[in-house]
Amino acid sequence: MEEKRFIRRTAKKFGPAMPFKCLRCKNDVFMNLVRIRKWFVILIYPIPFYSKYFLVCNTCGWRVRLTNRGQIEAAKQLNLLTLSFNKGEITKEDYLGKIQAMHPEQFLPAHPDPELTKLAA
Ligand SMILES: [Zn+2]
Repeated sequence: MEEKRFIRRTAKKFGPAMPFKCLRCKNDVFMNLVRIRKWFVILIYPIPFYSKYFLVCNTCGWRVRLTNRGQIEAAKQLNLLTLSFNKGEITKEDYLGKIQAMHPEQFLPAHPDPELTKLAA
């Protein structure tokens, strides 16, 4: 396992991206946007060679991988939108309207649940 010393793994948590009923634990949750990255460390310089994005249930850890640039960008926009809503910068109507306009079902196997925005209150 000599090579392990030269590989590092990092997980960046962007925070909540979308209200959702988890397909595994059935809880009403926010799916969190997470990026997993692996790095080669050459001398002291880390060089990323692997980067994958997921939406992750914050209750049970169920996750769905985002497999293309369009999905990742949409999830990042949802994340910014949700953080903005959580801070009270936009109204619930605005938030729901914007989520629905983005059609997040294109990258998740289910629709966002409008009833779940109470989680953000
Ligand atoms: Zn879950």
